[in-house]
Amino acid sequence: MVEIKPVVLKFGGSSVATIERIKNVAKIIVDRKNKFKHIVVVVSAPGDTTDELIEKAYQITSDPNKRELDMLLATGEQMSIALVAMALHSMNCEAVSLTGPQAGIYADEIHTKAKIIDIDTKRIKKYLKQDKVVIVAGFQGINPNEDITTLGRGGSDLTAIALAAKLKSPICEIYTDVDGVFTTDPRVVPEAKKIDYLTYEEMLEMAGTGAQVMMARSIEVAKKYNVKLEIKSSLTRKSGTIVYK
Ligand code: ADP
Ligand code: ASP
Ligand code: MG
Repeated sequence: MVEIKPVVLKFGGSSVATIERIKNVAKIIVDRKNKFKHIVVVVSAPGDTTDELIEKAYQITSDPNKRELDMLLATGEQMSIALVAMALHSMNCEAVSLTGPQAGIYADEIHTKAKIIDIDTKRIKKYLKQDKVVIVAGFQGINPNEDITTLGRGGSDLTAIALAAKLKSPICEIYTDVDGVFTTDPRVVPEAKKIDYLTYEEMLEMAGTGAQVMMARSIEVAKKYNVKLEIKSSLTRKSGTIVYK
C-alpha cells in the first residue's frame, strides 16, 4: 500500500484570532486539500489567549504550580482545534480535532519547556486514510506521567515541524500574519524586504538574532530532518519564504 505523506499546515494565533479568521483558515484548508488530498493542520491558541492565561495564573499566585500552568495553557489550543473542525464541517469537509496527547505526541517531563521525545502517528494515519483533515493542537504533548506538558512559547511551530518530519511531508506550510520572513521585522521597519529563499542555517541565524517569526528550536528540527518550509500569510495568501537546505 502507498504510504500517505500529508502536507502539514500550521496556523499561528493571529490566523485564528477571530471567528472570521477561523472561517478564512477553513477556506485555505479546503483549497490545500483539493490540491494535496491529505492534510494535517496544527493550530495555535487564538490571538493573545496564551498571554492572558499566564496573566490569570499570576493573578492567583506569584509561583503557579508548573503542572497546573501547563494544564491551563493547553486549553488555548484546544479551543482553536474544535472551532476549526466545526468551520470545516460547515463547509462539508470531514475533519477531526486531536489534542497533543490524543495525537500521540510524547514529550519529556519539563513542564512549560518540554521536548518532544516521539510521536505515535497511528491515530493520525487512521483518520487520513478515512480522508479526514486531522487538526492537531500545537504546543502540547503528554509526558511519562501522562500529564499534559507544553513545549515552550511559540511551540506550535515545533509541533508542526516534528509532525511533518515524522509523517515525511513534502512541505510544511507555516501561515502567519506577515507575507514571509523579511530582512528585519516588517512591523517595526516598513522598508524591510521579503526574502524568497533561505537555507536552514540562514533562518537559524535570523531566529537567533531576534527574528521571532519562528521558534528557533523548530528550525533545528527542520534542518535535522530536512523538512521543507514555506512561511506565508493566511491573510494575503501571496507566495512566502521557502526555507530548505
Ligand atoms: P504566529 O502567531 O503566526 O506564530 P508570531 O507572532 O509568532 O506569529 O510571528 C510573526 C511575527 O513575527 C510578525 O507579525 C512579525 O512582527 C514578527 N517578526 C519579527 N521579525 C521578523 C522577520 N524578520 N520577518 C518576518 N516577521 C518577523
Ligand atoms: N500559544 C502558544 C504561545 O503563544 C504556542 C504558539 O503560539 O506557538 O506561545
Ligand atoms: Mg509564533
